[in-house]
Amino acid sequence: MTIDEQVSTYYNMLLKRNAGEPEFHQAVAEVLDSLKIVLEKDPHYADYGLIQRLCEPERQLIFRVPWVDDDGMVQVNRGFRVQFNSALGPYKGGLRFHPSVNLGIIKFLGFEQIFKNSLTGLPIGGGKGGSDFDPKGKSDAEIMRFCQSFMTELHNHIGEYRDVPAGDIGVGAREIGYLFGQYRRLAGQHESGVLTGKGLTWGGSLVRKEATGYGLVYLTAEMLKAHGESLAGAKVIVSGSGNVAIYAIEKAQELGATVIGFSDSSGWIETPNGVDVAKLREIKEERRERAAVYCDEVEGAICHTDGSIWDLKADVALPCATQNELDGDHARALAANGVRFVAEGANMPSTPEAIEVFRAKGVYFAPGKAANAGGVATSALEMQQNASRDSWSFEYTDQRLHKIMSNIYRTIAATAKEYGHEGDYVLGANIAGFKKVADAMLAQGVI
Ligand code: GLU
Repeated sequence: MTIDEQVSTYYNMLLKRNAGEPEFHQAVAEVLDSLKIVLEKDPHYADYGLIQRLCEPERQLIFRVPWVDDDGMVQVNRGFRVQFNSALGPYKGGLRFHPSVNLGIIKFLGFEQIFKNSLTGLPIGGGKGGSDFDPKGKSDAEIMRFCQSFMTELHNHIGEYRDVPAGDIGVGAREIGYLFGQYRRLAGQHESGVLTGKGLTWGGSLVRKEATGYGLVYLTAEMLKAHGESLAGAKVIVSGSGNVAIYAIEKAQELGATVIGFSDSSGWIETPNGVDVAKLREIKEERRERAAVYCDEVEGAICHTDGSIWDLKADVALPCATQNELDGDHARALAANGVRFVAEGANMPSTPEAIEVFRAKGVYFAPGKAANAGGVATSALEMQQNASRDSWSFEYTDQRLHKIMSNIYRTIAATAKEYGHEGDYVLGANIAGFKKVADAMLAQGVI
């Protein structure tokens, strides 16, 4: 069998065994495609069922999450935790609370997390979890009761050395607080290492909140520098207005860029003069309102409900909203409008067609598993602080994050070059992320 045939056989088996999970198929297809070139060079990476084992989660938990709403009605949601791979360390990855969540989405996120976490260079395996619960429009008391019910099941499966969840879409400081409180109560002890993204007075780390957005911009700056460009004076589009987007906007502007637009699920906001980050944080973090309110409160901002944020003329695009938000047409529009660099703050925001367009048009493209690794990397730094009962300064933690992101860029660029595809960061990220996990799995035997 040729390598192509061998990889197609694995993939077809995976499609059959995981029917109805398109996002998971998409994430695996992209990695397998990159691995063909590794297998040509080093066929031993297919030994001992390595690829099949890598694509099959070590454990998948699905559980009922019943809770009582403010009207006294019983609501039932579904909870998930996919413990994908622990060859490099305890399972690590966020929890997503969003109505779109299903097993396929959690598996795609967990699969990506394996390679992302490997790229950080820190000892963390890959996992992901969440629920189809929609926090939008819920009272604080409802969020709390939901989190308590969710943790009542999850606490049996997590721990400092076992599985360390954190936040993702719909899970921020408030939710982590309620989840941690319930864990502490059930465990009967204060185990700070069981969750990351905690509050600063009870085991949290400075910079964790900003880390995904800041890290994205550090890696983007590194990529621009390697191609003789800089963020100073650049026009940047950032989609989304959640935690990743807010701190990507803040850091990009700090480095001299103008962020000319951001968005939320109901539309996009054009900000020709840049974004007032303090105002955006107040609207999103304190008032928990829609991003569109920004247009009523900041002069010069224009709200759009039709067209696309990707039609803006810019130098750099940072998709920071959600999976598959940027398709082939969007990618063509970006390239036609002069965008030369794209880095993903969200997980898998670009469709496979969009990535093909970027390749064909010579747009440098840093995939999420490299570009947004700053969040989970800083979670691992939080774990280090918890393990040593210490807390580090903002400056020191930020320096560590900066160094990690620069290293990731150097690693993916060098790997792409080594395999004869200079500038193809998708290939570089997939191969570099894979090899470390694969070497550990081979060393540890068939388990
Ligand atoms: N949810 C984030 C991610 O996609 C962070 C996970 C973590 O900190 O464990 O990587």
